[in-house]
Order: sequence, then structure tokens, then C-alpha cells
Amino acid sequence: MPKLSIVVPCYNEEEAIPLFYPAVEKVVKKMPVEIEYWFVNDGSSDGTLAEMRKLHKQDPERVHYVSFSRNFGKEAGLYAGLQAATGDYVVVMDADLQDPPEYLPEMYQDISTGEYDCVGMRRTDRKGEAKFKSFLSDQFYNVINKISDTKIISGARDYRMMTRQMVDAVLSLTEYNRFSKGIFNWVGFKTKYLPYKNVERVAGTTDWSTWKLFKYAIDGITDFSEAPLAIATWAGGFTAFVSIIGMIVVIIRKIIEPASSAFGWASMVCIILFLGGIQLLCLGIVGRYIGRIYMQTKKRPIYIIKEKK
Ligand code: UDP
Ligand code: MG
Repeated sequence: MPKLSIVVPCYNEEEAIPLFYPAVEKVVKKMPVEIEYWFVNDGSSDGTLAEMRKLHKQDPERVHYVSFSRNFGKEAGLYAGLQAATGDYVVVMDADLQDPPEYLPEMYQDISTGEYDCVGMRRTDRKGEAKFKSFLSDQFYNVINKISDTKIISGARDYRMMTRQMVDAVLSLTEYNRFSKGIFNWVGFKTKYLPYKNVERVAGTTDWSTWKLFKYAIDGITDFSEAPLAIATWAGGFTAFVSIIGMIVVIIRKIIEPASSAFGWASMVCIILFLGGIQLLCLGIVGRYIGRIYMQTKKRPIYIIKEKK
């Protein structure tokens, strides 16, 4: 029988795990696969690890966990889970049941035909999400798909089932700053998306504030596009061009009307501030990329394990 690994990154999910496990078990029991769970405790401050230990004790053959020494973020959790998984197929799921297990049989059916390397789930609505947050998400997908060669599907979640071949490809990308939404598409392979309606969290609260999501979006853009650097160059070129025209205008006026003092100091201050602003912005953009190079050259591990069972 083929083996399916279920990877679940968890951060403060003590309430969700006891609901997640039976819900998934109910569905996978009927599937023609051998199951293996890999829960990843991402430095939770609540009883998440205790819940994992409990499940492992109940079923030591099938339920495993990795526990980090601190919170490393969901991307690190995902990576650790994928590294630990040994299945022929691997599915990534959130612990809060926002990735409905009812779709697992359908995903498996599609992937086991061999026609697809990956079957992902795609939200068709964003019910229960703040309007402003949805608006920002839409803008993010618009921007990143315009400036990056890697297409990122709007509404696609990390909830996806992959073949061993694709998982190995994802693991071969060892970059320190991980943006899985991009990585899954970057590695290529044939992906099928199944549409579904948004489901709200069963318990606990989301750790993703609008600000955190915004930073995540910026990370995604810097990881998968060099367009901001090109924009900085163009902005510099454009202001230089405008200033040359300005200089010509000032010189011509001085020749025609030698007595006029051309522009006052107020306009001078505006120009200085404008140029200063553009310079700082461009420096900041360059800095972001350098920061990423810096982190990468340190070759720090993506996560540190404290306990693994
Ligand atoms: N998560 C994690 N580390 C973190 C934040 C979140 O492992 O630092 C896990 C979390 O436990 C959940 C999944 O990532 O299983 C998605 O998080 P959440 O539900 O908060 O995000 P949302 O569904 O709102 O995108
Ligand atoms: Mg969630």
C-alpha cells in the first residue's frame, strides 16, 4: 500500500489538535493508504507539545512529532515536516481545520492516477475575513504575478498533496528565507487545483495580523522578483533626466532674463527632500536584498530541533 504522510505545522494549537486528529482519522481510515503523521511544534507556549506526546503515545507507529527549540515560523515548520516525512505522497495541512480533511480522498484520487504531481486546494471566497485584509491580498497577488516569473495562484493555500518527487524538489531548495507559496510553483511539476469555500478556524486564534501578512508579502516579492531593484534604477534614471531638463530651463531663463532669481528657496527644499526621499527608498530596496544575502551566507539552520519522536 502506498504511504501518505500528513505534515502539520502547529503553533499554539492545544485546542485545535484534539479536534484535528479525529477529524482526519475519520477520513483517512477509508482511504487505501498507509498513514503517517508528522506534527511540528513550532515553539508553542501552550500545551501543544503535550497534545502531540499524547497522540504519539496512543499510536507510536503512525504519529510522530518534531518539536523546535523556539518559534521559527510556519515556513520552517513546513520544511521540517517535509524533511521528516517518508511517504510516497505528502500532504501539508493546518492544524486549525481550515484545510478540510474531507477533500483528502479526492486529492488522493487525482494524484494517484499519476497524471498530476501535486493537487492543491484553492479558496474561491474569503468569507469571514476582514475586507481590508482581502483587498490587500488581492493587490499582493496582482503585483507579484506582474513582476515575478513564478506565478502564484490567488487563493491557493499551502494545503496540498505532493508526490515524493515533488517533495524532494521542494527540499532541494535550501534557502534561508522560505516563501513556500512561491517555492511550490517555482519547482514546476503539474498541479491541479480543487476549489472550495473558505472555512473558519475551529479553535484558537490566527497568529497572522495584517501587518505580519504585509511583511510576508514583501518577503515574497523580494524572494521571487528583482523588479524592485529595477524600479529603483528606473526611478534614479527618471529623476536624473528630469533634473537635466530643469537645469536647461534654468540656464535658458538666466540668459533671457538675467535679473530674475529663477526659483525661490521653497522649491529648492522640495527638490532636495524629494531626491533625498528617492535615494533613501532605493537604498532601502537594495538593503533588503543585501540583508537576504547576509542571512543566506551565514548558512544558519532553518530550524533547531529539541525533541523528535
Ligand atoms: N503556524 C506555525 N508557526 C507560526 C504561525 C503559525 O506553525 O509561527 C501554523 C499554525 O499553527 C497553523 C498554520 O501554521 O497550523 C496556519 O496558521 P494560521 O491558522 O494562524 O494562519 P491562517 O490560517 O490564518 O493563514
Ligand atoms: Mg488558519
